[in-house]
Order: sequence, then structure tokens, then C-alpha cells
Amino acid sequence: MAKYKLEYLWLDGYQPVRNLRGKTQIKEYDSFPTLAQLPLWGFDGSSTKQAEGKSSDCVLKPVAVYPDSSRKNGVLVMCEVMMPDGVTPHPSNDRATILDDEGTWFGFEQEYFLYQDGRPLGFPEGGFPAPQGPYYTGVGFKNVGDVARQIVEEHLELCLDAGINHEGINAEVAKGQWEFQIFGKGSKKAADEMWVARYLLERLCEKYAIDVEYHCKPLGIDADWNGSGMHANFSTSYMRETGGKAYFEALMAAFDKNKEEHIAVYGPDNHLRLTGLHETQSIDMFSYGVADRGASIRVPHSFVNNGYKGYLEDRRPNSQGNPYQIASRILKTISEVPTP
Ligand code: ADP
Ligand code: MN
Ligand code: MN
Ligand code: MN
Repeated sequence: MAKYKLEYLWLDGYQPVRNLRGKTQIKEYDSFPTLAQLPLWGFDGSSTKQAEGKSSDCVLKPVAVYPDSSRKNGVLVMCEVMMPDGVTPHPSNDRATILDDEGTWFGFEQEYFLYQDGRPLGFPEGGFPAPQGPYYTGVGFKNVGDVARQIVEEHLELCLDAGINHEGINAEVAKGQWEFQIFGKGSKKAADEMWVARYLLERLCEKYAIDVEYHCKPLGIDADWNGSGMHANFSTSYMRETGGKAYFEALMAAFDKNKEEHIAVYGPDNHLRLTGLHETQSIDMFSYGVADRGASIRVPHSFVNNGYKGYLEDRRPNSQGNPYQIASRILKTISEVPTP
């Protein structure tokens, strides 16, 4: 037997952006616990905008479990928030009711800024560094500073140790801005891993006295600095195996028809980011294009070359978007398009 440190993670009731919350309980197991071995737990919902003080209990229901290599016998337990009966999803529970399909694969590209003293890492006090250009995928102290790479590398290791499908890292277009990619089969799997990866990044940054700024346009709409997205790459088994131009065009027509419903769940303040500049399409337009980073949906060259088969990239979701809702909305629109 060994004592395991179970870190129960959940999303709170804040809007428009939920915060990650976590607390630890210690339990003994023969070996690393399985999901079925993890009990329900509770918390004070009156402190997280999830309950009134007079009846404050909410229930945590474990839904996914990951090793936490930063702690001896550490376990990360992703949870859904339930009502006191333990079976009814709490109104803030964005996961319980989403569409899911293991045959649909999602790749999220999470962009974010590292912030210290109220400004992006590497920005001088009260001013700006040299304009954008050398930072994207850049190397060297003048481009990435002295600590950012250490953070993103440690984050990568934590994610891989947790069994998260982390697929890569790059320095982004703005100074102090980075990206990591998470891939998963099914909306819940991919989105759970994204939330846990976000948690690991925020927790890691504590010891550096650095914050993760997920806002999609932290430097404002007028600044000539890129915003942060969370591009959602997706493919259904039909898109990968059958595809074809006619199906693709019908799919794009459905995305066009539902453009407002998509924007509604693609993250707050997206009008500040989707301006038509800085590699985006305007928020009120829908377009697609081969290799076009100014389109709403980018069609990879490989997709066309393979006879309109493969994955597509929805570039509109932003860095503060909730991956549960984003993936579910994509699945809903796909479900409206008949396959022969
Ligand atoms: P870029 O920066 O050029 O847009 P990235 O390499 O950062 O591209 O991200 C591409 C994403 O596409 C990755 O997250 C990857 O997991 C995802 N992806 C690749 N193939 C598929 C697929 N068949 N279905 C869904 N996502 C995919
Ligand atoms: Mn990318
Ligand atoms: Mn990017
Ligand atoms: Mn992309």
C-alpha cells in the first residue's frame, strides 16, 4: 500500500471564463488508482460561484485520471461538478451534456502569453520591444528571453508524464507568446487533456512568479501585436476515409450557416481578435481557403491533394475558449450534414 496524493480538479462557476480549481486528498491504494477506485468528493460551492452559502455543497465526480510527476505518488483527477444528489450535472458543468464521438479527432493549438508585472514577458516597463517578426519560432535571448523556454520544456515533460497527448511547442508571433498542441480522439478526451494541460502550465508558472495570460487580445485591439487563438483541427472518420469535394462543400455551407452559433462558444472578446488582421478573418464573416491563414477555416494542402480527405483547421476559437463547448459545437454542425 502507498499513500497517493489525489488532486481533484474542476471548473468553477465564473463566466464567461471558468477557472480551474483543485484540492488534495490523501488515500491509500495498492497501486496507481483507476478511475473506478476514485470516490466522489465535495467542495464549498459558495466560494466558486456554484452555490449559495446556506446550501453550499457541490459534488466532484471523477471523469479522468492522470499521473502527476511533480509529486511523489501524485494523481491528477479531472472531475465534473454535480448537484448534491451526485447524479444531476450542476448548471456550470459544461462537460456532462456535450456531444462526443471517438471517431472524431481534435487537435487544439493553445496560444497564450506569459505575463509578469502586468506585461508580457520580455516587454520593457512602459514600452514595447522590437516589432513582431523574429519571435515566431525564434531562438536567442533577445527573442525568447531567459526563462520562457525552461517553462515550456518543463510543461511538456509534465504533460508527457501525465499521459497527455501533447504534440508540440512553438514560440509565437508576439514576444512572450507561446503555443502548445494537444491531440485527442473524441471531444471529451481531447478537451479533458487540454484543461489538465492548462492546469499544469498555470501551476508550474507559480514558482517563477509568472502568470499565464489566456485572454485573446491582452495588448488591445489597436496594438500591432498578435492575439491568441486556440485553433481547433478536426476530422471525422468519414472525412479521413471517404471525404470528397461535394461533402466538403456541404460541410462548409453548414459551418457558414451556423457561424454565429460557433462564435458564441469560441471564447469571449473574440471581436478584439477576429479583425481580419494578424492572420484572422473578421468575426462576422465566414470563409475557407487552402493554406489561407486569413480564412475562418484553413484547408491544408494535404486535404485537397488527398481528394478532399483529412482534417480541417477552424482558426476562430480563441485562447480562452472552453474546449468542451468548442468540440461539441463542431460535432453538432457536422451532424447536420448528411453522409451518403
Ligand atoms: P499550424 O500551426 O500550422 O496550424 P500545428 O502543427 O500547430 O499547425 O497544429 C496542427 C494540429 O492538427 C495538431 O494539433 C495536430 O494534432 C492536429 N491534427 C493533425 N492531424 C489531425 C487529424 N487527422 N484530425 C484532427 N487533428 C489533427
Ligand atoms: Mn500551430
Ligand atoms: Mn499558432
Ligand atoms: Mn493553427
